[in-house]
Amino acid sequence: MKIIDLHCDTISLFLALKGGKLIANEGHFDLRRALQAGVGLQFFSLFSPPDDSGVVLRRVLKQLELFYKEMESNKDILYLVQNYKDIETNINKADKIGGVLHLEGAEALGLDIDILHLLYRLGLRSLGLTWNKRNFLADGVEEGEGDGGLSRWGRQVVKEANKLGIIIDLSHIGEKSFYDVLEATDKPVMVTHANAYAVCPHRRNLKDVQLKALSQNKGIVGITQVSDFVKEGKPEVDDLLFHIVYIADLIGCEYIALGSDFDGASDIVMSGIEDYANWENLLRKKGFCPKEIEDILQNNALRVMREILK
Ligand SMILES: [Zn+2]
Repeated sequence: MKIIDLHCDTISLFLALKGGKLIANEGHFDLRRALQAGVGLQFFSLFSPPDDSGVVLRRVLKQLELFYKEMESNKDILYLVQNYKDIETNINKADKIGGVLHLEGAEALGLDIDILHLLYRLGLRSLGLTWNKRNFLADGVEEGEGDGGLSRWGRQVVKEANKLGIIIDLSHIGEKSFYDVLEATDKPVMVTHANAYAVCPHRRNLKDVQLKALSQNKGIVGITQVSDFVKEGKPEVDDLLFHIVYIADLIGCEYIALGSDFDGASDIVMSGIEDYANWENLLRKKGFCPKEIEDILQNNALRVMREILK
């Protein structure tokens, strides 16, 4: 069973570090370990800290170039997911990993829909409307009670993403904005990296009502490895698995996927992508049946992508 992971920051980390190779490195994610662990599809995030200096788009474009170079160097393994057929053809091949390009925070768009179209042409298939801060589209979790919701421009971007076939990612978004997007979208959404607020009350986690709304939208949440979102102190894998058990009891296994946030935070629960090799086992020990395990590791993510990617 090939594993799908909905979020890693490896490419943006390479830009920050001014170096790094996808095939093998010392970080949380590389292609060699991913293949060994049975990973078949990985979302790669492009991220620039939001600022008003006008360089956000430039930083995103540099990460795209970096990704394309890495894809050329590893073309026997890594392919770019542009439509659902790419996944169908390759997902069960032992030596292939699909890369889905994701933009974390839509600041790079400015107020220009042409930039979204251009990024789509360059391979972008997933869009996080906000990072933690307020932007032209909506408000991030940092706004808290002050969340003003989805703007008119944000609504336009959601509609256009639906039309183009770009996944909307609601990680990092504020609560009011979260519900506004669920109303505005005609497609299921992903919250690619978050856990359950009832288990660990961190602002980046989803409250029970949000998880229920997500299931009504037929969307999915990617369970994340970031220690702060799992439990206070030094959480272990078992603490992370408890988030899955909790969410499964609340809304069912059909809405759960994996979204590690590898290379996006220094403290994570697993040591890296290699530990996914053991996850089928770990979930079985928690009492999940084979169908539920397949849903969590792969099928739920495939279902959403089948509905959105052309
Ligand atoms: Zn993130």
